[in-house]
Amino acid sequence: MAATLTSPELNIAALREQFPILHQRVHGRPLVYLDNAATSQKPQRVIDALVGYYEGYNANIHRGIHTLAEQATKAFEDTRIALRDFIHAAATEEIIFTRGVTESINLVASSFGRAFVKAGDEIIVSGLEHHSNIVPWQMMCALHGAILKVIPVREDGTLDLQAYESLLCRRTRLVAVNHASNSLGTINPIAHMISLAHQAGAYVLIDGAQSGPHLDIDVQALDCDFYCLSAHKMYGPTGTGILYGKRALLDSMPPYMGGGEMIRDVSFERTTYNELPYKFEAGTPNIADVVAFREAIMFIRELGKGDIRRHEDRLLKYARQRLDVIPRVKLVGVAPEKVSVQSFTIEGMHPFDVGQLLDARGIAVRTGHHCTQPLMDALGIVGTIRASFAVYNTLEEVDALAEGIEKAVALIS
Ligand code: PMP
Repeated sequence: MAATLTSPELNIAALREQFPILHQRVHGRPLVYLDNAATSQKPQRVIDALVGYYEGYNANIHRGIHTLAEQATKAFEDTRIALRDFIHAAATEEIIFTRGVTESINLVASSFGRAFVKAGDEIIVSGLEHHSNIVPWQMMCALHGAILKVIPVREDGTLDLQAYESLLCRRTRLVAVNHASNSLGTINPIAHMISLAHQAGAYVLIDGAQSGPHLDIDVQALDCDFYCLSAHKMYGPTGTGILYGKRALLDSMPPYMGGGEMIRDVSFERTTYNELPYKFEAGTPNIADVVAFREAIMFIRELGKGDIRRHEDRLLKYARQRLDVIPRVKLVGVAPEKVSVQSFTIEGMHPFDVGQLLDARGIAVRTGHHCTQPLMDALGIVGTIRASFAVYNTLEEVDALAEGIEKAVALIS
């Protein structure tokens, strides 16, 4: 067994007390939740905010003049302010609430596509992308006659930046890459990649689904044109997230969906649209979850991303040490800069079977292609077993994982 439930920075035992779901048994054993890249668990304060909204001030926002509507509107807009500060955006108008990263990317593919993309233009994605940062661009390319180009991935899970440079040209309209890979954990050198794209005259969208809970994000320093986050990967509720976009760019894009809230005036002859950010927020939004999202942001801010990262790095390093010495185990994704995600395969065992064996021991990991089928194809594998760590995970849980894998391997040795 490794060290105790503490880390030099954080009191992990006290932290775990804030997460009611962690204190349960699965198949008679303490739950070991290592599927955080799929979705993280939620602290009590997030759950309380959700319930508090429905118990105390549920009302539709923005148009009401009664007290509950004003309370709900303020709570909703307070989350926008928290997010503006969290990613260092210049203005709240640049923060658009969506259902999450998938919807944010689809919004850009649809709206930016209609405004800026024409036949023969090129869109660059990387070989590390999640399907939600591939398929919307394929759909957009098919609609406008544009061409999708792909930055190849190297053996260690890093991007081939030389190949990237040679793909960039005056036809490149947009580069869409993730800040960190969900399958391998690779942190991409996005500041450099954004600067190269801008030199070529292209816009850049960053998929921040996997960076949100781990890395500092400063959209102004990065100078990215779009940045996407999902609340549910960041200790927040499901069903909400944001699209950040530079104000001038968002202003020059047409609305994504039509409906209430996104309009200024409607007649059968002519409709004019609302100002930012409401132009992109048609219909009643997911008010309760947006309100609770603020508590998740505060949770991360109060802990501090520096301390979160140091703790998670320790978990990642320890997991790699323990797994690397188990016969038949091959680590997949060993880039020097990673978030706390470790994929691996076991020679002679299908990832699904390993996942089931671990589940029987109360250990939750994700198995399969992780919505990155092109990456798995490039690596020549069907999928991986992926352990992904959050701030509440412990070295003891890494031990439980390693023991589970040792037992699995013993079955076929
Ligand atoms: N991009 C990456 C890198 C992801 O990990 C995910 C979620 N697995 C997504 C996009 C899609 O996010 P969501 O399902 O929250 O829309």
